[in-house]
Order: sequence, then C-alpha cells, then structure tokens
Amino acid sequence: MSSAEANPLANLEQWDDFVKDRYDPGKPKESFRHYDEKTPPVVREFYRLNHQNQTREFVLQKKNEYTGKRRGPMGIWEAMEYLNTLVDDSDPDTNLSQIEHNLQAAEAIRRDGHPRWFVLTGLIHDLGKLLCLYGEPQWAVVGDTFPVGCAYSDKIVFPEFFEKNPDFHNSTYQTKLGVYEEGCGLSNVDLSWGHDEYLYHVMKDYLPEPALYMIRYHSFYSAHREGDYQYLMNDHDREMFAWVRTFNPYDLYSKGDERVDTAKLRPYYEDLIAEYIPAKIDW
Ligand code: FE
Ligand code: FE
Repeated sequence: MSSAEANPLANLEQWDDFVKDRYDPGKPKESFRHYDEKTPPVVREFYRLNHQNQTREFVLQKKNEYTGKRRGPMGIWEAMEYLNTLVDDSDPDTNLSQIEHNLQAAEAIRRDGHPRWFVLTGLIHDLGKLLCLYGEPQWAVVGDTFPVGCAYSDKIVFPEFFEKNPDFHNSTYQTKLGVYEEGCGLSNVDLSWGHDEYLYHVMKDYLPEPALYMIRYHSFYSAHREGDYQYLMNDHDREMFAWVRTFNPYDLYSKGDERVDTAKLRPYYEDLIAEYIPAKIDW
C-alpha cells in the first residue's frame, strides 16, 4: 500500500473535526445518523481503512510492540515540540499547531477551576499521536476506538466498513461478548490501537486514575457518548467514565477558543508537568 493510500487525511485534525461536527451541540438529534453525505471523502476512506485493518491480531501485535516503551527517554515539552513537527498539509493560517490545540484544551479546563492533574491531562492527552511520526498509518493512530474480539456496536460510525475486517468473519469474535466475560472490566478488553492506548501505557505510573481513564478512553465514543458496551464494563469503569465524559467537551469544543501565547504559558505548564512527571520518561 502506498503512503497516500495508507494516509488519506491531509492531517489528523480532519478526523477530530469530523467528530466535533458529529457531536455539534447545535445539531438536531435526528441528524446524528445522517453524517454520511456530508462527510469528506478522505474521512470516509480513513474509516474504511481503520475498520478493515484493526483486527484483534493487529491490536495485540501493536501492544506488544509499543507497551515495552523501547523508543527511549523524552521529556513532555520535548514530546510536544516533536509532535509539532507533524505538519499540516492544509492552510497554515486556519490550522493551529498541535501545541496550541493542546494548550487551548488545558486552558479551558484551568479556567473552569478543575484540579491541576486535570489541566495537565488536557495538555498531554493527544501526545500518543507521536505514533504517526514513528511511521504508523493514520488509521492506527486516530479514529473512534472500539473493542476487538467481540461484536461491533452499531453505534460506531460507518459500521458497514467492518464487513471487510477479517474478524467480522470469525464467529467466536462476533458474539456479543466474544472473547470476554460479562462485566469483566475494560482493563481486560482490547480496544482498537491508537493514540489513546499508547499514551496510557506511557503515563500509567504518573497520573491519578481519572486522568488515565480520560487518556485511555477519550476516543471510545460508542461507550462514553453513546452508552454502549455496558456489558464489558464493571462498576468501577462506570464510575470513572463520568470523568471521561467531563473531559470530552474540552477536547471537542475548546479548539475555537482564542489563540494562546505559547511562550507566555510555558513556565506555568513546565511547573505543572514537573509536579507529576519526571524530566524524562520512556516512550
Ligand atoms: Fe485524541
Ligand atoms: Fe484531542
């Protein structure tokens, strides 16, 4: 597969913008299922690749490859600057850098008086997108995440694209529970691979549990926005998902906020990072 075929999006923000549009609060509820015609062709193509290629086998292989964190030590600000080198192919005037998007989310959380770890989570939540710079295709970095190894929820966008996924034809994987047990808890469930799961593994020793849930499940829209997959969750997941839902509007809707002064904000955020995270951590 050529790289243009593997990476149909001009930039990762096209996926974020699509999700934001899907959950636009001004949108009438019945229009939720009608995203089809209005979806940019590159976004459709992105989902086609994502749904076709995220097999359980692929997910387990990526977990094995990345959760050992063998890519060497790096500081948080350094990682943010590195992620910023992921340039947009689209108009630079209308698109914010990755650092700016993340600072806007963090600043919106700070303005609302949330705890410091929550502000920090806003800042770092998308750093797993570094996967793109490691050479992973877009469909293995972003996209709504979903459990693999059990039946797909019809609340996942473009469910028809799952028909091309080899797991769709595996009868064990296509029962309601698949390889899982009822109420087994999400920590025992493999979700499609992407920036959420990767960053969770990088951060899991450093942040409080609600922050880790926000990081790990922020793209799991069929669960946190649509309420599906309750049968895989335990009571603790349900409790923690209140935090995931609290975080989601900052992720989706803080982008249009006024421009942030990165240089001016940096000292505050460097202090905040140092409060929780060592100067260099393994990636
Ligand atoms: Fe994200
Ligand atoms: Fe985000």
